[in-house]
Amino acid sequence: MEINREKLAQLLEKELELFEKKHTKSKELFEQAKSNYIDGVPMNWMVKWAGSYPIFVKEASGAYFTDVDGNKFIDFCLGDTGSMTGHAPEGAVPAITDRIQNGVTFMLPTEDAIWVGKELKKRFGLPYWQVAISATDANRFSLRLARHITKRKYVLVFNYCYHGTVDESFITLEDGKLSSRTGNIGPQVDPTETTKVVEFNDIEALEKALEPGDVACVLAEPVMTNIGIIHPEPGFLEALRDITRRTGTLLIYDETHTMSAGPGGYTGAHALEPDMLTVGKAIGSGIPTAVYGFSEEVAQRMKGLISLEDSDTGGIGGTLAGNALSMAAMRATMENVLTDEFYERNIALAERFSDGVESVIKEKNLPWIVKRLGCRTEYWFRETAPKNGGEAAAAVDFELDRYMHLYALNRGILMTPFHNMALISSQTKEVDVDYHTQIFRESVESLLESSV
Ligand code: PMP
Repeated sequence: MEINREKLAQLLEKELELFEKKHTKSKELFEQAKSNYIDGVPMNWMVKWAGSYPIFVKEASGAYFTDVDGNKFIDFCLGDTGSMTGHAPEGAVPAITDRIQNGVTFMLPTEDAIWVGKELKKRFGLPYWQVAISATDANRFSLRLARHITKRKYVLVFNYCYHGTVDESFITLEDGKLSSRTGNIGPQVDPTETTKVVEFNDIEALEKALEPGDVACVLAEPVMTNIGIIHPEPGFLEALRDITRRTGTLLIYDETHTMSAGPGGYTGAHALEPDMLTVGKAIGSGIPTAVYGFSEEVAQRMKGLISLEDSDTGGIGGTLAGNALSMAAMRATMENVLTDEFYERNIALAERFSDGVESVIKEKNLPWIVKRLGCRTEYWFRETAPKNGGEAAAAVDFELDRYMHLYALNRGILMTPFHNMALISSQTKEVDVDYHTQIFRESVESLLESSV
């Protein structure tokens, strides 16, 4: 199917009109916000939505939220994973509320730390842990520690990865050339001086990059999720483990998004053996927190490297890191929300979501595909699965993504911007998934009517 671009622009215009009709109060608030926030939003990403301006949220519960204009939505975005638990999850809210009423931060541990530490080991296999405020911080601190231990200069990431606002990771590879990634705001250091980058699934390039022995660590998602879901090819993760071991390079898996694969993320589900592991967002039901873990060997190598006197200055930490509220939230989330049953139920629903979209793709004979990782699903406007970030980035269709997103939004469905990804929470129902299939079909039909 060849999309008629002129018609697509007209369809988008129509949807924007509908959006503005339905969101007058949001518009009013957005105009007010411009007086005190750059671009009218408290955080720069909040401008990147398909509508004319962001919608302002009033309240949320489980898989649903209501905006300030009274529109109700099925939320498949779930705060881009932060609320994968569902909003205000029943299993976590009482412990979180109790903690708020009894003090949230002390610069001292609470007893929840014991339970959380044991549970992290059970889920991810790594015995030692530290707590940060965000997944970005967990990654940043892991890179520092990896460099500290190995005394090596570089880190290695995969092309078009995303690991939060980690300076080293904003680098891309095009036609064999490394450069600072487009949109990298005021790089503190040129990332080509700190980072090597290769394509995911490229064993040969990986080997070549690690062979000189100057890379402290590889920071990677075991399945890429941020340029769309890209699975490792058979043997790739094994090769990654072998080569990193052989070259004395530490392997850090970032499970922040791949937590959709199971209670111990992709690492737990596939018995992977990283040296370090980071995870944030959903692990505390969206209460700011993240953890980073270490193998026995890494922990031994860290011993004595940070003196008592310097332990509060070394560039890792944060005053609020490991605060009592984060710890209570992680405990309640792992104990009562992100359980085995959560994954069993939600992965089945995500399969239903994928099957629904796939049935429309088949029925309409579209050159599109669906990708899924546990309870995370997305559709792609290309015929075959991309095998690396470069291929995936080349397939991005910003206008089409925007139209599909806005069409769904105007009919009560919030997908993750901009790549049309859906997460299933414990409160998402079959009827919600089926409603998405219906709206997806309608949006496709609107496109087909106007295609050449
Ligand atoms: N790791 C991955 C894989 C992510 O996708 C993200 C954010 N989307 C982060 C880390 C950073 O999370 P945060 O913005 O909460 O620090």
